[in-house]
Amino acid sequence: AAGAHGATESEALATLHRVFGYDSFRGEQGAIIEHVVAGGDAVVLMPTGGGKSLCYQIPALVRPGTGVVVSPLIALMQDQVDALRALGVRAGFVNSTQDFDERRTVEAEFLAGELDLLYLAPERLRLETTRELLSRGKISVFAIDEAHCVSQWGHDFRPDYLSLAVLGERWPDVPRIALTATATRATHREITERLHMPAARHFEASFDRPNIQYRIIPKADPKKQLLSFLREEHAGDAGIVYCLSRNSVERTAEFLCKNGVEAVPYHAGLDAGTRAAHQSRFLREDGLVVVATIAFGMGIDKPDVRFVAHLDLPKSVEGYYQETGRAGRDGLPSTAWMAYGLNDVVQQRKLIQTGEGDEAFRRRAAAHLDSMLALCETARCRRGQLLAYFGQEPAPAGCGNCDTCLTPPETWDGTVAAQKVLSTVVRLQRERGQKFGAVQIIDILTGKRTAKVIQFDHDQLSVFGIGEDVSEGEWRGVVRQLLAQGLLAVEGEYGTLVLTEESGSVLRREREVPLRKEPKKPAAARGSSSG
Ligand code: ADP
Ligand code: ZN
Repeated sequence: AAGAHGATESEALATLHRVFGYDSFRGEQGAIIEHVVAGGDAVVLMPTGGGKSLCYQIPALVRPGTGVVVSPLIALMQDQVDALRALGVRAGFVNSTQDFDERRTVEAEFLAGELDLLYLAPERLRLETTRELLSRGKISVFAIDEAHCVSQWGHDFRPDYLSLAVLGERWPDVPRIALTATATRATHREITERLHMPAARHFEASFDRPNIQYRIIPKADPKKQLLSFLREEHAGDAGIVYCLSRNSVERTAEFLCKNGVEAVPYHAGLDAGTRAAHQSRFLREDGLVVVATIAFGMGIDKPDVRFVAHLDLPKSVEGYYQETGRAGRDGLPSTAWMAYGLNDVVQQRKLIQTGEGDEAFRRRAAAHLDSMLALCETARCRRGQLLAYFGQEPAPAGCGNCDTCLTPPETWDGTVAAQKVLSTVVRLQRERGQKFGAVQIIDILTGKRTAKVIQFDHDQLSVFGIGEDVSEGEWRGVVRQLLAQGLLAVEGEYGTLVLTEESGSVLRREREVPLRKEPKKPAAARGSSSG
């Protein structure tokens, strides 16, 4: 058996070199591929960017026949197939975007044994005609991508996935590999049951990236904060800075250049030539900083990215994890740094409310944002919170390599402060029928006679100046945390503050509101500076 294993392993490795041009397998890829090439079923949990595709692409190339890949991401199929063809892999897809002739051509190639990989949308496999077709060709492996879609309790449930359970009965000799990047323990079990894969071997890659130090600081003057972070800790290092808008990408890149940090912009508004040039400079040169919208980084494999900085809040923990995960692929110390503030919360809540999408979409987006905010506001280990989010066990005593572990944040009883904010919102609404944003509320609390305060007679309110003892910056922290905790909400395109169902319990003094103290100085850095 050892000899046979050795043979499949070297064949897999040879394919990795020859077709994909890589030196070695990453993490558990080698073990997974060996198992599937040998005919075994596998359930694979691996973070996004971990390298799931090769886990089925290589078995499909090594075993005789066509690898059939079931994927719900119809929009990506063309790109995936194009990328494979560019490597010389014979790939095709069948989905609803094709016309009859295109489909016919692919089907004919499959039957003639001329395809290494065939991508199918799950609804295709419900059709007996499709199954019939597959029965007439030779299949090397079934890959079920985004396998968590089979879970009724997850947010991505696709009824068509349930019909994939028949694959094992109809093709008992074809190994199946189910892959996902998001799965709690419960979903993992559900995948096995619903896809009828009781004998599958489970591979669970750790989501932990111990060499990445996670830090999230309150946003004050983000570009300046970024600059001191780079100067103090990452002078001369390569890194990525993420911003939400093209405009802030441009301005941030200019600002860095003016201050002696070599930086280039990258966003969808630049022409393809410029984008390609900036990307290849990033890969080739040492110590270049790319300031980018989230579009940058997919499929880029630069091992020595020393930091990933966020100047704006990502929309979800998945997004944050994926983006920060581009740092430190070489295993050396790296930093995931983010500046986050009140405006981020207001902006994103506003976007969700006024953006496109139906009610269900909005609720999902809001849930994603809530998890992201919980990560930002936690007083506990950031890494622990990340791992728990992905259903993995964190170290009970904390990781020792995130800001909250290195400098545990102080908390304080913010109940009275919360009541002051909420009662100002109530007063304005009940007594005046008015709604205002955070700036006006804070001006009222701190007793500032601004033009807008005078204009609306807000200095006549009984709450005017009741928060003078607290600084404006601290009030922004209070409002931000109330928004993050769902004790306050944002409404409409002007981002006015309104109460939530939960607000009442605070106003009625039925509950306490523990808040994180805003650190005076950003969390202490690692002892030695890298670079
Ligand atoms: P996932 O599907 O898990 O999100 P991908 O399969 O798209 O991840 O792989 C992410 C990136 O890592 C791709 O650019 C891929 O080419 C690269 N990659 C995967 N495996 C290896 C490897 N063994 N060596 C080098 N690069 C790899
Ligand atoms: Zn920690």
